[in-house]
Amino acid sequence: MSSYLIATLAAHAVLLWGEDAQLDIVQEECAELIQAISKLRRARRAVEARGPNLDTFEARAADRELSEAERNIVKEAADVWIMLQQLEALVSGEYQAAREFVVKNFAAKVTQASEK
Ligand SMILES: [Mg+2]
Repeated sequence: MSSYLIATLAAHAVLLWGEDAQLDIVQEECAELIQAISKLRRARRAVEARGPNLDTFEARAADRELSEAERNIVKEAADVWIMLQQLEALVSGEYQAAREFVVKNFAAKVTQASEK
């Protein structure tokens, strides 16, 4: 799907369900992503801490939890992404300028860190 079509759908969604309702969902999806990041980090630590025996109930449970956390963070990142498309529809002109400024600063930081 093209970025133009996604932006059109996002703008339509905001008109359809209203700004306030969509802002609620942006907030909720960001919270879900934060929780997913916490669960992924906790699952990674559990796998690291399980020791050399991989064939215990706890080891298999840690592996399952990590797999689930990896799937979940992808889903939550995608949920946030589609809600950010709608947020962009709410603040369109300012968002574009802010995004360009942030990308420029980010590029400078990455370049600077790479040169160290
Ligand atoms: Mg979600």
